[in-house]
Amino acid sequence: MVVELISVGTELLLGNIVNTNARYLSEKCAMLGLSVYYQTTVGDNRERMAGVIKTALDRADMIILNGGLGPTEDDITKEVCAEVMGARLVEDPTVKAHLEEWYKLRMKSELPESNWGQALVPEGAVIFENHNGTAPGLAVEKDGKIAILLPGPPGEMYPMFEEQVCPYIQGKQSGIIRSQMIKICGFGESKVEEMLLDLIDSQTNPTIATYAKTKEVHIRVTARAETDEEAKKILKPVVKEIKKRFGNAVYTTDENETLEDVVVRLLTKYDLTVTTAESCTGGLLAGRLVNVPGASEVFRQGFITYSNKAKRKQLDVSKTTLRKYGAVSEQTAKEMATGGVFATDADICIAVTGVAGPDGGTPEKPVGLVYIACYMKDSVQVEEYHFNGNREKVREQTVVQALDLLRRSVLSHYKKD
Ligand code: ATP
Repeated sequence: MVVELISVGTELLLGNIVNTNARYLSEKCAMLGLSVYYQTTVGDNRERMAGVIKTALDRADMIILNGGLGPTEDDITKEVCAEVMGARLVEDPTVKAHLEEWYKLRMKSELPESNWGQALVPEGAVIFENHNGTAPGLAVEKDGKIAILLPGPPGEMYPMFEEQVCPYIQGKQSGIIRSQMIKICGFGESKVEEMLLDLIDSQTNPTIATYAKTKEVHIRVTARAETDEEAKKILKPVVKEIKKRFGNAVYTTDENETLEDVVVRLLTKYDLTVTTAESCTGGLLAGRLVNVPGASEVFRQGFITYSNKAKRKQLDVSKTTLRKYGAVSEQTAKEMATGGVFATDADICIAVTGVAGPDGGTPEKPVGLVYIACYMKDSVQVEEYHFNGNREKVREQTVVQALDLLRRSVLSHYKKD
């Protein structure tokens, strides 16, 4: 089924807010096995919105609009869409009751005059209840086409999509869609695509899609079949082949698991504690680990040793090393990791030092040069990276690679058993 996404809101066009809903919806559509060929963003303007809706209905089986369902003057999505589709707006008693209840409970007031319009829905529309706000979601079916209208606030749209819209869309498709996520770290997206090209080209069922994240690539394999069992059978050999091609770089096949979740899970499994020693990332790495519930069991301590003095005092990095090789060097990273273990009696210390920029780069040590060291079981491993991008990007990439080095170090010590 071909789907087109339309985000509504002048604030999106002005760059006041980032269109995270489009990203979310695109990903969900891919998971549901839907093909998204176009995404459009349009302001709160009747004529232009009507034009965009007409064009989308012409070239897609289903359109999904988000935003502009609120009670204010500029919230016109429902009216315009109903008009384009030739659907009359009628008052819906269930929606009206929900609105009255919402105002009574949350606002301790009667429903304001301006909100009555929210009880109007295109005749015959399927209604998706809004448990987190006032505007219901809607599905309008006309002449073999479907328009789904969703509220703009992510806190309202996401749960509505998961709980009600997904099952609705699945009901519109023949057969079952099942997908499997494979998350990998350590390969760029183009390399991943190159390594999967033969599979991507030869497969129409399952399909393979790649998504680039910071220093990670997520691969979604999606199968369509008559039954769930059949879909699983179609997925199995392709997922197995992809996992074989990427080996240890695959850190999870669980949709909801993050890299830091995996690290904490492994540390817990092998009863290990970790200390972080950070220079250029200034605590970001520790922050990512602490994101994970249960991190207190494995996270021993975090050092932010931004200055040379702190590196010396807290991690016992030698003066000679700092003078001879500099703060951003393999030797300093090694000593930071070693010092972190001995200062805290942890099993592992992961240390980072680098030139995040924009200043401080030299021809020998350019911006983006980062050393990451991992001390574990009396040996220390150091990796050198050259990251692109601004200060924020360099720091973000460093954290991901540090988490991954930590993961790989634990695996290389324990995988055999
Ligand atoms: P409301 O009842 O709050 O007016 P609405 O359906 O009319 O809801 P909008 O007015 O378009 O939605 O947007 C409300 C808020 O939702 C925006 O200020 C923004 O914070 C968030 N939002 C809207 N569209 C998007 C989007 N595409 N991506 C991320 N956030 C969005």
